[in-house]
Amino acid sequence: MIIARSLFLTLLISLLFGFALRNVFGLLESTCLAFGIQFVVSFIISSYKINRIQILSTEFQAEIDQLINLSEVNIACPCGNYTFTENIFPNVLSTYTCEKCNNEFKIDVNITPTLITNPIDVNKAFVDIGTDPNLVQDSNKDAEGTEL
Ligand SMILES: [Zn+2]
Repeated sequence: MIIARSLFLTLLISLLFGFALRNVFGLLESTCLAFGIQFVVSFIISSYKINRIQILSTEFQAEIDQLINLSEVNIACPCGNYTFTENIFPNVLSTYTCEKCNNEFKIDVNITPTLITNPIDVNKAFVDIGTDPNLVQDSNKDAEGTEL
């Protein structure tokens, strides 16, 4: 249906060009020329579009591959005889079967936050901070200390 409509529009535009240039080239010659030129132009435009889509999809694929490579880890089997490379995602269940010992394993991902900033020395232990009413900020009071 789209092809028929495109052909109809192309023919219509060709006829209009043919009619407009009938005194220069003749009606039939002008119509054929306009028809041919439209085909060439549409071919060039569609080639450009296809090329652009291919470049975009190649770039997208490269970015996806880069992201997948970031999750690649080496895992040593508990049997000690086999180490394999796998892409691990924290929220996806990962299982593998060792080629050497033929046991099946599930891989758990542990995420451990580690303090990397330097804590300020306030001469207080965490135990004191937990029990001292002056150091514990009351969540029922606002910044000036008035009761909400
Ligand atoms: Zn093993």
